Amino acid sequence: MRPFAYERATDAAGAVAAIAQPGTMYLGGGTNLVDLMKLGVETPERLVDVSGLPYDRIEDAPGGGLRIGAAVRNSDLAADRAVRERYPLLARALLSGASGQLRNVATIGGNLLQRTRCAYFQDVSKPCNKRRPGSGCPAREGDHRNLAILGHSQACVATHPSDMAVAVAAIGGEVHVTGPDGERTIPIPGLHRLPGDEPQRDTVLEPGELVTALELEPLAPGLAARSTYRKVRDRASFSFAVVSVAAAVEVADGTVRDCRIALGAVAHGPWRAWRAEESLRGAPATEASFAAAADAELAQAEPLRDNAFKVPLARNLLVATLAELCEEVA
Ligand SMILES: Cc1cc2nc3c(=O)[nH]c(=O)nc-3n(C[C@H](O)[C@H](O)[C@H](O)COP(=O)(O)OP(=O)(O)OC[C@H]3O[C@@H](n4cnc5c(N)ncnc54)[C@H](O)[C@@H]3O)c2cc1C
Ligand code: SF4
Repeated sequence: MRPFAYERATDAAGAVAAIAQPGTMYLGGGTNLVDLMKLGVETPERLVDVSGLPYDRIEDAPGGGLRIGAAVRNSDLAADRAVRERYPLLARALLSGASGQLRNVATIGGNLLQRTRCAYFQDVSKPCNKRRPGSGCPAREGDHRNLAILGHSQACVATHPSDMAVAVAAIGGEVHVTGPDGERTIPIPGLHRLPGDEPQRDTVLEPGELVTALELEPLAPGLAARSTYRKVRDRASFSFAVVSVAAAVEVADGTVRDCRIALGAVAHGPWRAWRAEESLRGAPATEASFAAAADAELAQAEPLRDNAFKVPLARNLLVATLAELCEEVA
């Protein structure tokens, strides 16, 4: 690994000032960034550790949501009583990711901003538009079994690997950031972007912006009670999703009154399934409605040569998840 300087930020203003120096990157728990440094994918000259900033609280937000500091560890968030009671799909998503040891170290800010696991991105001997803009995308004709079926571009077909971000996209909320131009909030969904012709940009963050908190919208108790996260993966543990679903459904008198659905591992970011939700609201809570909702969403899919299996997989997973959530009320 290339030698680098290391310093701990003591406040956000200091961190933002430090990152202005070229070659500087923020460091959270380091579970993604340090791996990428070992591979030579990231080559910062200086790391500014933001994991010790006073953003380690989980507290009620005005308006009934929950505000989660960017330095909160994944395991602490999954174990938090308010998360378990009010956002069970988020707790499940977190617990399905990585391993206990990694979750103890990984931060919420770092989890949202972790990079793709595309094999070409991680191999500096190969071209990759995301790592080296303009060099090409070998995944499109090469190994893309676990890459995108939705929203990809000629330039990049990568997927985003975070489980947590899928649950957050289904719940909705905003990310609080501070940067050289001051503070702002970014709506979720909306933090992660589609690759278009700038696949080097995973998110809409501007250079130097520091994530300080994630604020979740309130989830109605009726939705929270019937919510979950389901993840299909190649191994039972320590493995990224092949396809995942975060879903919450509220059913009354056999009819779907409200729902929230997001898909994971199918696009450049978590994929909020707006079309499926629209199809489902007001429909009878039956398997036929669940299948129609899945079909409405996946009609947009553009699978590649070796990942067409993800379309029926996503369909089946979504239908099964909704059926499970509605089992006792339909
Ligand atoms: C073996 C293995 C298995 C894994 N399996 C899964 C899995 O199944 N599911 C899953 O979701 N994840 C998985 N992960 C990924 C893991 O969840 C991420 O590595 C972790 O969440 C990243 O958090 P971190 O704090 O360590 O980030 P870091 O590695 O410190 O940082 C990641 C990126 O975010 C930036 N950054 C960090 N904090 C901030 C901030 N506050 N503001 C702005 N930028 C910031 C950094 O500069 C860097 O670019 C796995 C990782 C490993 C190593
Ligand atoms: S899919 Fe994206 S990350 Fe993977 S090789 Fe192509 S440009 Fe790079």
